[in-house]
Amino acid sequence: MKPICFNNRYIKLGQNFSVETLPEPVKKPHLIKFNHQLADVMGLANTCLNPVDNLSDCTAIFAGNLIPEGAEPLAMVYAGHQFGCFNPQLGDGRAILLGEISTSDGAHFDMQLKGSGRTPFSRDGDGRAALGPVLREYLLSEAMAKLGVPTTRALAAVTTGEEVARQQLLPGGIITRISGSFVRVGTFQYFSASHNVEAIRKLADFVIERNYPAAKSEDNPYVTLLSSVVDRQAELIARWMQLGFIHGVMNTDNMSIAGETIDYGPCAFMDYFNHDQVYSSIDQNGRYAYSNQPSIGLWNLTRLAESLIPLLDKNTKTAVEIAQDILKNYIKLYQQYWLTGMRDKLGLSKSFNEDKELIEELLDIMATGKADFTLSFYYLSQVSIASAQQDDAIHALYIDAEPIKQWLLKWRERLTKESLTHETRKIMMCAVNPVYIPRNHQVEAAIRAAEDSADFSVFHELLEVLQNPYELQKKNDIFMLPPEPDEVVEQTFCGT
Ligand code: AMP
Ligand code: MG
Repeated sequence: MKPICFNNRYIKLGQNFSVETLPEPVKKPHLIKFNHQLADVMGLANTCLNPVDNLSDCTAIFAGNLIPEGAEPLAMVYAGHQFGCFNPQLGDGRAILLGEISTSDGAHFDMQLKGSGRTPFSRDGDGRAALGPVLREYLLSEAMAKLGVPTTRALAAVTTGEEVARQQLLPGGIITRISGSFVRVGTFQYFSASHNVEAIRKLADFVIERNYPAAKSEDNPYVTLLSSVVDRQAELIARWMQLGFIHGVMNTDNMSIAGETIDYGPCAFMDYFNHDQVYSSIDQNGRYAYSNQPSIGLWNLTRLAESLIPLLDKNTKTAVEIAQDILKNYIKLYQQYWLTGMRDKLGLSKSFNEDKELIEELLDIMATGKADFTLSFYYLSQVSIASAQQDDAIHALYIDAEPIKQWLLKWRERLTKESLTHETRKIMMCAVNPVYIPRNHQVEAAIRAAEDSADFSVFHELLEVLQNPYELQKKNDIFMLPPEPDEVVEQTFCGT
């Protein structure tokens, strides 16, 4: 059997960055799902992390009962603004970084168990995760990956054979998640809060080496680091907006330095469109509502910029000006990413000034008409430009069809300025307008079956459909439909 190629760089940063911590073993683990495709990308074929050859060791590793050779388990320290309030001491309270895996072609993956027991940062928590949130994270993060959005990935999920106490006793689970980095905006804030400039520099150097190597050759690599993170977040949040995704807890400790979607808690994809949609039960004031996400992105990045000030220039005033310029650019970048992506969704390859208005008008009509976001765009990709004969499916999504009929006239008029053929436009639109998203009621159904009757078939079936979100899968029509009134999920929970 091949050894796993661990090359653990984070632990080398030293003791104030993490605490060496072992996962707490569980009673009776059972492997629910292993992501063979991702394992292959990570070079894990023929290692002990392959359940086909070695189910019991593999399960034990994903449960935290066995430490693979070369792993150096630790809990990372970080701080963070939670709903706007600064908490100087957070950290992995229920996660353990097993280590960094490198592949022969130079890719790097951090591997973390989540739900693996108490750590020095657990505060009053039990360090555990319930099975429901584990399945939810598995489904949503893998769906994101297949939708083409940067995200942490799911390598495996296990049940623990133990119960966790939440509002009620629930079966426990552990997810193994993979990322380009588990460093967060909050990691920088942790060192900034204690004015530890050397640690900030060390962390920044680590992130540059690992995630932004091109910055090394720039005049000031830290300026490039900040502008690169800003760019990636602008693009990421634009992608969320284009898919109707609401993260739900955009605290600074949940914002990845690598620009990946991270920490799938009470997140959700919208069914019918609402600018101010909130699902999270703990987001009482709608701080993280759908339409607030771009500006919260800027708020969080401003916290990162503040933490990096000592590295941007020796002169603080100059450093602040540099940071302000980069942050100003976020707004521009976000708008560009958003507009380009929305044009693609509408099959517009050319740019005209009035496009923005056309897109915003559609969203407003969707909101008043309570139309399903995903299906609205998918059906648009299916209709003919020339004739309105097949428009019925679109009209049927809206409470009142009149406004969308008027809008379709404008859209068709706009399409006449394009030089794309109908076929090319359709291919372009189908590549960005998914048929399937992990709809709340279906995720909920998968969790209910698993938690209530240890039936994982619904989870597996849904996960399978989400592997090809942009392709109509004939026998799986049910997965493209919005919920019936009695299936609507109004609230989601973070499950801690
Ligand atoms: P989250 O809202 O999931 O990003 O978590 C915020 C903080 O609370 C992080 O430091 C987590 O590690 C910690 N946390 C969440 N749930 C638990 C738990 N069950 N036990 C210990 N720590 C937790
Ligand atoms: Mg978190």
